Amino acid sequence: MPNKRSKRKRVQHFFCPLCGMRLWRLGSTKYYLFYQNAAEIRQNLKISAKKASFLATQNSAYIDRNSWIEEFFCTEHGRIWLLLSRQSDGNIVYRPAKKEDWKQTNKTINPTKPNPSVSEFTYRMSRKVYYGYQA
Ligand SMILES: [Zn+2]
Repeated sequence: MPNKRSKRKRVQHFFCPLCGMRLWRLGSTKYYLFYQNAAEIRQNLKISAKKASFLATQNSAYIDRNSWIEEFFCTEHGRIWLLLSRQSDGNIVYRPAKKEDWKQTNKTINPTKPNPSVSEFTYRMSRKVYYGYQA
């Protein structure tokens, strides 16, 4: 597998919004944002009202594959959920995920209070990643 790496696109680095340290990407599930109606679609995708209402009629909920919440790890601040958005130029902008952002996801997870009715197993598996950090 020679030069397999060089063919990959340049990897963007992420930094802690609180301290500016390099963040570790944990490879957690990406919780994509979805929008319930034309107004939300229009606001988030910055498209015309006409296009937004078209998308709204096509889907009961429009999933934005370019915006998602993903978990990162800061050696200083621990686990951090970031809201990431891929821009049209390929760059990803990000900021800490807010409570409102989680409402836009499929809500299968709440980082502060795991929902026991949803896959407890998945949640525990996802936590395994941190065992190395939590003394
Ligand atoms: Zn930090």
